[in-house]
Amino acid sequence: MTYYKTEKMDGYYRIGSPEGVFCYLVEGKEKAALIDTGYGFGDLNDAVRSITDNPLLIFNTHGHVDHTCGNGLFEEPCYIGEKDMELCRRHNSRDMRKDSIERAEHSVDYETGKEFNGLPERFDEEEFLSRGCGNLIPVKEGDTFDLGGATLKVYETPGHTQGGISLLYEEQNLLFIGDATGFFVWLFSDETTDLDTYMAAVQKMYDLNCDGYIGGHNPVVMHRDELPRFIQAAGEADYDSGQPFQAFFGMEFEPRVCALDGMTLDDMFKPGFASVVIGKDKRKQRN
Ligand SMILES: [Zn+2]
Ligand SMILES: [Zn+2]
Repeated sequence: MTYYKTEKMDGYYRIGSPEGVFCYLVEGKEKAALIDTGYGFGDLNDAVRSITDNPLLIFNTHGHVDHTCGNGLFEEPCYIGEKDMELCRRHNSRDMRKDSIERAEHSVDYETGKEFNGLPERFDEEEFLSRGCGNLIPVKEGDTFDLGGATLKVYETPGHTQGGISLLYEEQNLLFIGDATGFFVWLFSDETTDLDTYMAAVQKMYDLNCDGYIGGHNPVVMHRDELPRFIQAAGEADYDSGQPFQAFFGMEFEPRVCALDGMTLDDMFKPGFASVVIGKDKRKQRN
């Protein structure tokens, strides 16, 4: 069984893996772009080459461990928001990689609740631990990449991380957003911005009027109409009435889930669920 599951979607490819992270591939006539590289446990190069032989560009929507640890499998440049370069280096450290292995070995199937080993059959632990973070090159708002009949344009969408970017696939009017927003967006660690900056970024995504918003973990393409509720969830977030949440990093911020309409984590997969997970530093100032 191959580790990565490659699927042809409407205008792009999706590369899924057992840890619930998606990488995406956009293929132009001359070049192809790989958007995010996941945890990089398996042979991602092989998965990409099963789709295209074109020269490759790599993009990281942000610097987190679950989006960048496959960078070092490639010689090609990895484009990333400048403010996330340091985060990316930190999240590619040996210690973070050790934690990733530990979590993968105790992966949980959300449908059955059963634990399983999410690592590939042939996994070279030492290669993984000592792998670099790739050939990072900073990009900024408006940078445009022509793949030959497929154009990707960079939009800065900070919030979840300070240097987070989204990529507009112009010909398809689709926006690849990584973890920049969604019904359960993490906004609680050192690398996050204040809530106003996050809300402005989601408003910017909304104003782009895209036909679909494609996230790094959500198997369903988000619709533009969902975005105002995500903004509202951030605007109404009240740390003090939030629900404590166990994360695998940033626990010093004591993250809590703040969901709209009195919903809790148990309601996560119900229609209309919208939340932000914030740290105690985002507690509202009270008079
Ligand atoms: Zn992330
Ligand atoms: Zn992620």
